[in-house]
Amino acid sequence: MVQPAHTGYRPTLWERLADAPHPSVSFQSSFWHASAPPAPVTERLEGEVRTPLAVIGGGYLGFSTALHLAEAGHEVTLLEADEAGFGASGRNTGFAVPNLLTGLDPRVVREHFGEERGNLLCRMLGEGGELVFELIRRHGIDCQARQTGWMQPIHTAKKAAWLDDRIEQWKALGRPVQRLSRDEAVYETGSNQYHGAFLDPTGGHLNPLAYVRGLAAAAIRHGAKVFSGSRATRLERIGDVWRIETEHGVLIADRVLLTTNATGGGLAPEAEGTQFPITLFQVATEPLDPELRKSVLPNDRCSADTRKDLIAYRWTWDNRLVTGGLLANPLGSAERGRTHHIGRLQKLLPQLPELRVDYAWQGRLAAARDFMPRLMELGPNAWSAVACNGRGMTMTTALGRALSFWLSGGSNEGLPVPVTRPDPVLVPSLASLAFSLWLPLSRWHDARDLKEG
Ligand SMILES: Cc1cc2nc3c(=O)[nH]c(=O)nc-3n(C[C@H](O)[C@H](O)[C@H](O)COP(=O)(O)OP(=O)(O)OC[C@H]3O[C@@H](n4cnc5c(N)ncnc54)[C@H](O)[C@@H]3O)c2cc1C
Repeated sequence: MVQPAHTGYRPTLWERLADAPHPSVSFQSSFWHASAPPAPVTERLEGEVRTPLAVIGGGYLGFSTALHLAEAGHEVTLLEADEAGFGASGRNTGFAVPNLLTGLDPRVVREHFGEERGNLLCRMLGEGGELVFELIRRHGIDCQARQTGWMQPIHTAKKAAWLDDRIEQWKALGRPVQRLSRDEAVYETGSNQYHGAFLDPTGGHLNPLAYVRGLAAAAIRHGAKVFSGSRATRLERIGDVWRIETEHGVLIADRVLLTTNATGGGLAPEAEGTQFPITLFQVATEPLDPELRKSVLPNDRCSADTRKDLIAYRWTWDNRLVTGGLLANPLGSAERGRTHHIGRLQKLLPQLPELRVDYAWQGRLAAARDFMPRLMELGPNAWSAVACNGRGMTMTTALGRALSFWLSGGSNEGLPVPVTRPDPVLVPSLASLAFSLWLPLSRWHDARDLKEG
């Protein structure tokens, strides 16, 4: 059942540590913020409003759910604490990846969820790139979208067998994925350090904040009510409705779906406790000579490799490179974040000139201990959905659509994830700390793998 209602936002010790040292790298300091079209105009919730269905959290998951419901003619009200895309959705690298993290292949998903549901989830995710770009076209979302393909190059020759297996698993699901040879991977990435690559031509890249703002605008145009600047601070069951309190208003809802990416600030502590936060640092360089595009990602694909501490990079429409990732020491300075990630990219792509960073920002994602999406029942007609796990743009967009079918009367069997009770980890902040200890270890693994070839 639902935990006692909490009020206010109480960051964990880990969140305080991770967020404190980088006040200069915020939502507003991102390249996406500097270049996205403005957010749709919305008001904050005031007074008492009634709704058949409340969605709490305005990222991809919340807005995809709201948009698909509104398009089908259902009444839905979305509450966002800050503004559309303020969470991970507005700060990520902008890769549309129809896949899961390394190590989570369709076989693992089937082992986790069973044959039928596992296949359903993989199909949903595999088609997620197509869905993202189709939504962009259908709703005229101006987000510099490029469906040029997502690549996962292998960083050692030894990974070739793993790559072949991953390709086969996705092909068996009917996905048009391709195996790039070593020469093709070197050409496509611009780095002679790669030994082959996974290519899904249905993926691509975009301005992530512009995309989520576009989803929000489309949801509003189709009749969804959206209140921003309206952090839900208390969730209570009263009789047969849910009472959701914000600082200035109250939303009374028959049904509630939390899509807060486990950053709800204690709104549903049990569900939030199933996730642990991971902070990622991002940088965008100054605009570079367009000639460099001939030797770095010449087909404008995006690339995220198979290292445990992976290297991801892409071009923007105005010839900047965007990269980023984890920082070993979250107490390190923002300056260190800039130099660390740029340094890695220059080592990978020695043809690049000395790079200067124009924009730096950070974002926080939520991950479950098994890195699998969850749909958790909080009480009668109340659920929390979290599907971030680091590669969530296509997953959350597609899951939002699936949730909209379910909330409009679909069966539990038709869902790509089971409805479960929250299974919190004992001490989520310790889980985050464990993750930060894992990072140096995984860097050591990466270095050893590279040495061994
Ligand atoms: C730096 C970074 C890089 C990444 N790169 C990629 C990538 O390239 N490709 C990819 O697929 N994925 C990437 N991810 C992951 C991806 O961004 C997430 O999976 C996805 O954005 C999750 O969407 P969401 O809607 O679940 O959550 P969010 O976007 O985090 O949305 C949750 C929203 O809920 C709101 N909220 C929280 N509490 C409350 C409350 N109490 N009341 C009201 N509102 C509330 C928040 O303000 C927030 O806007 C990255 C993540 C980060 C941080």
